Amino acid sequence: MTHQSGCLLCGAELEYFAEHRSFSCHFCGTTASGNVHCVNGHYICDSCHRGSAQDVIESACINSEARDPVSLAETLMKHPAMNMHGPEHHFLVPAVLLSTYAEMKDLPKEEKAGLIRKARQRSEDVKGGFCGLHGACGAGIGTGIFVSLITSATPLSTSERGLSNRMTAESLLNIARTGGARCCKRDSLLAIFTAVQFLEAEFGIVLPANREISCAFSHLNRECLESDCPFHQEKAIRLCRSGKK
Ligand SMILES: [Zn+2]
Ligand SMILES: [Zn+2]
Repeated sequence: MTHQSGCLLCGAELEYFAEHRSFSCHFCGTTASGNVHCVNGHYICDSCHRGSAQDVIESACINSEARDPVSLAETLMKHPAMNMHGPEHHFLVPAVLLSTYAEMKDLPKEEKAGLIRKARQRSEDVKGGFCGLHGACGAGIGTGIFVSLITSATPLSTSERGLSNRMTAESLLNIARTGGARCCKRDSLLAIFTAVQFLEAEFGIVLPANREISCAFSHLNRECLESDCPFHQEKAIRLCRSGKK
């Protein structure tokens, strides 16, 4: 998704101002003073411009006030530091869930930040390729990390350990149903949707997840399942057309 010139996000021309103005960063939501944005209004702060995918996910999820984990994940997936596939998705999944959960529960900012930093640490143990090599997709494990953190589970816990493992198991079942090849975008979205359902069923917390999703990445994915993927664009277009008739 990297644009060689112009806006990092959309490639549009940049517009410079003689005086500094106050902007809100498209990725992390931080308000910063700057003198450039693109003609479509995108401003990207310095740390989101320079940071690694993990840095951008961490700061965006700590600062975001969004309550929809799917839209937050989609925005971050478009950051140029995020690869089409890669283990950064193993952090993305618990980070967007923790961020939106913390907003719904009105947790203090420091507590929210602490949870997201722990998720980053834990996700570093979940390497790329786990899906095929260990039989456990890292995006699915990411939902287990999420439930473990919100329940303070440890290996000695009783119901908390049970819930965390069941969370991972349910995500992995949904991921397994699509077979493969792997797609870190599809599997992350499947994991997030599974966690949204789980959170409602087990904790009574409803996150307003966007279900009108239409994948913007299939042209970058050589192994895209296309019409067999639940998020493929053609499906959304077809649905639209038949709806108009
Ligand atoms: Zn732009
Ligand atoms: Zn930023």
